[in-house]
Amino acid sequence: MKPRLALVAFLACFLRLPAEPVDLLLIHGTIYTANDAAPRAEAVAVRDGRIVYVGGNAGAEAFRAEAKRVIDLGGKTLLPGLNDAHMHLGGVGLRELSFDLEGVKSVAELREKLKARAAQTAPKKWIVGRGWIETHWAPPVFPSARDLDDVAPDHPVVLTRSDGHAMVVNRLALKLAGIDRNTPNPTGGEILRDSQTGEATGMLIDNAMSLVYRLVPSATEAEVAHAFVVGAEREAALGWTGVQIAGHSYQEAELVRRLVAEGKIKLRVYDAVSGPGPDAAKLARTPGTAYGEDTAAWKLFADGPVLGESRGRYTRRSVKLYIDGALGSRGAALLEPYADSPGSRGLVMQTEADLLPFLEDALRRGIQIQTHAIGDRGNRLMLDLYEKALAAVPVVQRKVAEPRWRMEHAQILSLADIPRFAQLGVIASMQPSHAIGDLYFAPSRLGKERLAGAYPWQALWRSGAVFTAGSDAPVERGEPMIEFYAAVARRSLDGFANDDWHLEQRLTRAQALRAMTLNAAYATFEEKERGSIEAGKWADFTVLSADIMQIPEAEILKTRCLLTIVGGEVIYEAR
Ligand SMILES: [Zn+2]
Repeated sequence: MKPRLALVAFLACFLRLPAEPVDLLLIHGTIYTANDAAPRAEAVAVRDGRIVYVGGNAGAEAFRAEAKRVIDLGGKTLLPGLNDAHMHLGGVGLRELSFDLEGVKSVAELREKLKARAAQTAPKKWIVGRGWIETHWAPPVFPSARDLDDVAPDHPVVLTRSDGHAMVVNRLALKLAGIDRNTPNPTGGEILRDSQTGEATGMLIDNAMSLVYRLVPSATEAEVAHAFVVGAEREAALGWTGVQIAGHSYQEAELVRRLVAEGKIKLRVYDAVSGPGPDAAKLARTPGTAYGEDTAAWKLFADGPVLGESRGRYTRRSVKLYIDGALGSRGAALLEPYADSPGSRGLVMQTEADLLPFLEDALRRGIQIQTHAIGDRGNRLMLDLYEKALAAVPVVQRKVAEPRWRMEHAQILSLADIPRFAQLGVIASMQPSHAIGDLYFAPSRLGKERLAGAYPWQALWRSGAVFTAGSDAPVERGEPMIEFYAAVARRSLDGFANDDWHLEQRLTRAQALRAMTLNAAYATFEEKERGSIEAGKWADFTVLSADIMQIPEAEILKTRCLLTIVGGEVIYEAR
């Protein structure tokens, strides 16, 4: 603090100089600012959506008499607004509204739930569910059409695995899709087949899912809007002040933009549209043709980014690509075969010829790229492609000099590739909960040796890479306390981790907080606007029932959100 400012603060404190009225004053807090210059505070004052004071309770007294609202935190913990760096808002809302199979413990329970759902659903109407995961079942094997047929014979049924990379469908759905023993596997996908008869089992992996999914009638715009609003309300109640949507259609992005403008979504939204499929190179030569779901990225290229609309609550400047699948369904592209499936190295969904011209174009237009990359081969392929594009388009030809491209998940890395994130300026956007969800099956998929580069949070951090954390909801539950706990404990929710699970890769609490706040803001080019508690920044805060920077690990999971504040506006208040 400059001497003169210090004097003013001193006088304001002791002489009670009348300060300009503030809209909101929060006092008696345990405040962690994520600002290294002044990491702790007791009070914050907000005017016109922005922080005007952060400091001690004594200094806050100057604002008290004329503050429009004073909240006495009574010692509760206040953090910079938590920011989910990777999630799917529409999916979260649909999960709230839909046939949710999360937590189903066996095929028998899955059948029971499906039977009940079928009884409430008009015959011939599609039943669409999501969220099952077989890894905890006994035995841990995929369900099949046969498990679904007798409990729902009159409805086409599609039940997506929790990772979104595999689904089980019933025989009626297979029939409607025309899938039989002669149907070839589509590129980047697999129709699982009975080893004896060769018939499709009902399990569809990655790109094979679209053979059935394209038949499911799409929701109306009103239904989709409702899902977004319901999803946003859930996020706010959990303490998220911002969400980063990891790809959807241009129409959905426009809908979210409108809902934010209308004040129906109160969160700060950073939006990415879905990238092009295998036709990227062809489309690059004829931009502007047939804008649709697949070509959302081209529409973004043509229309340009949307920056900080609705008072900093809506930004769209990113495209989401996929290079491989997921580890659970063995779609993640590995350099060496799966330890538990020696014939398979996973699936690569894009080619260099398709992607490179697209990446170069994105650099010239100032569009951020974020790529789903889970396996070590997927990650290496993308790092190589990022490197080539960055070399091909020098800084003077770029719209944004520092493009801040991201790797989403970055789960399994060859140790040689870890330093490349920092070298190339690529952000590691990881989901702590994936590591604790995967710890049961990752060792069998990968074998012991490769676990050294699996979820290597601390190694990435120490290499100088910017590390941000998100939940990937609805793939995971999407609760900030689960993400924070997973990042610092690296154990299952009941405290389990086996000996091979590299606990040295845990984050410290300060790192975890940084990953969910300031680094999440950096990943969206907004670290000067939000992400820490500093005068001048947006007043985005999360108030918690306990001090997660101090309490025992297990208690983190019992911590609840009390208040969620965005731009000084209380958007959630626990009763
Ligand atoms: Zn995702």
